[in-house]
Amino acid sequence: MATVGFIGLGNMGGPMAKNLLKAGHKVNVFDLVPAACDALAKEGALVASTAPDAIKNSDYIISMLPAGEHVAETYIGQSGLLEKIGTETCVLDCSTIDAETARRVGETAEKSGIGFMDAPVSGGVAAAAAGTLSFMCGGTADSFEKAKLILKDMGKNIFHAGPHGSGQVAKGCNNMLLAIHMLGTAEALAMGAKHNLDPKVLSEIMLASSGRNWSLEVYNPYPGVMDNAPASNNYQPGFMVDLMLKDLRLAMEIAEAAGVDNAMGQLAKDLYEKHQEAGHGRLDFSSVQNRLT
Ligand code: NAD
Repeated sequence: MATVGFIGLGNMGGPMAKNLLKAGHKVNVFDLVPAACDALAKEGALVASTAPDAIKNSDYIISMLPAGEHVAETYIGQSGLLEKIGTETCVLDCSTIDAETARRVGETAEKSGIGFMDAPVSGGVAAAAAGTLSFMCGGTADSFEKAKLILKDMGKNIFHAGPHGSGQVAKGCNNMLLAIHMLGTAEALAMGAKHNLDPKVLSEIMLASSGRNWSLEVYNPYPGVMDNAPASNNYQPGFMVDLMLKDLRLAMEIAEAAGVDNAMGQLAKDLYEKHQEAGHGRLDFSSVQNRLT
């Protein structure tokens, strides 16, 4: 069993750290919010008073933080964790951040011989609790082999996307596509419903036809079509519009850095922005259906 220093115990990090404890690892935790640490202490984690204390003698460091600035600060800024560890420690940042920061931190680690992976996740709070997250990893093949040994206790699909930053690029590609097919699915369902088609029947037709996609299959945005989808629960998240917009903005940076004309992604971002401005930021992202019905 491994010793893990876990930093960032929010909606995602909390249940992820809990699964590591369940799997029998020794987990030392740190979060700026004491209540988040207390919740993990009840599960058997040791609470540290600073990030450097949490990562002492760790086989792995795992972070689940809000944005690139927090990750940079933690590893190469004021907290400077990379300067406090040896080459035996494997560092996994599971936060969703900009690919540029992921590359910069990863390459800084590599220069000191430290294995670092950006390892953002797909799957929300429910998947974090169930231990069924998908991880998209960027870093060396050696680090990936070591990373898999611990990521398997928090997720079920673990991919090596390529070198540093590739995990974040893969996440940006996936979530941009998700936003686009969710918006397209909502439009198709609204169009059919306005012509008096039953959205359930229309969904069945499209599921058996070439319009089939994930939003239609497991996350239908039309209320009442799928009992367990957020649409049938007043669009309670799920995955909030605010978070989708964060991911879309990161995806725009990824496209721009590569000079890709992502007109569809841009439009999806604009539509989600309007939806947020209308006061729906904390609803599930499938609530874009409301724009149309
Ligand atoms: P959250 O805001 O619930 O948790 C973030 C935690 O980090 C907070 O507890 C905060 O106190 C802590 N924190 C911030 N700065 C810190 C620092 N310097 N040192 C220690 N702790 C610090 O966010 P979340 O929903 O858990 O999301 C975490 C990451 O996962 C984000 O990058 C998010 O985009 C990504 N993500 C979230 C979801 C989701 O559905 N919530 C899904 C996939 C990916």
